[in-house]
Amino acid sequence: MDYPFKNNVPDPLLSGPELPTFKFALEKSTGKVQGGSFGKEATVEQLPISKGIAGVSMRLEPGVTRELHWHATAAEWAFVLEGRVRTTVFDPTGASEINDFEPGDAWYFPRGFPHALSCLGNEPCHFILIFDNGYFSEFGTFSVTDWMGHAPRPLLAKNFGLPESTFEGIPSSEIYFTSGRVPPEQAVPVRGGLASPPTSHRYRMMAQAPSATYSYGREWRVGVDEFPISTTMTGVVFDIDPGGLRELHWHPNADEWQYVIKGTFSVTMFGSHGRFRTEILEPGDVGFIPQGFGHSIENVGPEAGRILIGLNSGQYQAIDLAQWLASNPAYLLADHFGKPAELFETFPHRVFIGPPRTSP
Ligand code: MN
Ligand code: MN
Repeated sequence: MDYPFKNNVPDPLLSGPELPTFKFALEKSTGKVQGGSFGKEATVEQLPISKGIAGVSMRLEPGVTRELHWHATAAEWAFVLEGRVRTTVFDPTGASEINDFEPGDAWYFPRGFPHALSCLGNEPCHFILIFDNGYFSEFGTFSVTDWMGHAPRPLLAKNFGLPESTFEGIPSSEIYFTSGRVPPEQAVPVRGGLASPPTSHRYRMMAQAPSATYSYGREWRVGVDEFPISTTMTGVVFDIDPGGLRELHWHPNADEWQYVIKGTFSVTMFGSHGRFRTEILEPGDVGFIPQGFGHSIENVGPEAGRILIGLNSGQYQAIDLAQWLASNPAYLLADHFGKPAELFETFPHRVFIGPPRTSP
């Protein structure tokens, strides 16, 4: 499923003489704060280029829950950075699932599926949410307290077959974060929705071996093939060694949303018509590359770096420059670049995360 505006052209923001910024310092923003809990978001408002994907950094204190809610216009893909999280989710078939998450675990809730996120245990938790629509705002969700707080009492009474007095004193508007007890370690049975969904909403991403290992880094990738419910999103984690480079490439079918977990990265973007832009992304910074735009990610810091990436398609597709060139005859490349054909025989066939350790 593509978001509605994905293939509209031309995009005025992307058709000017200069490429717009594609960086936003998410963790330096304020967002919505309640005690030690917060939600900070990057939507088209904060990062206008990011029309296809929005993101949120959320921290919950022990006993705090991001309240029961749903999204009318976006699916939610998440990656846990710190602490533990318990989610509840209910689906249109009547199945429900309660899952516990640790750092490196991912979840996916399809558009419109209602859910809640609770901090589990006595330590705070921190996670990144990625939504397959840049116009989606975490602060414009459909919340259970907002709904029931505004529905007429007689309507609620009739709906549940209970006296109107049942609903006296409930919140009159959205709570957003609820504060209460730390959830019991053993999830308690629920009264309805007892069937398990056919495909889980949880995927233990970093508990897997890397999907691939390269000369200067490792990749974990999870799309719909590994995580069947994640039909509209692919998640990627790159660990890139100092000096390592995710080579020049583009994605034919998806936008790319980036969040730096660790390290300092130089991210480039090529936008045709001679337009080329470089941004330096540090921990807590977000980047965005539109579908089809060329880009690269280089660790320019002294330490090993880690970057989280969300792509708004469940099917991963990429065209990598080295492999593309190697898939064309040397004489053709010679005519393009005004170099002898033999030179291109020395080019690597595949790089992905380089540079290659040994010259071919
Ligand atoms: Mn949500
Ligand atoms: Mn990419």
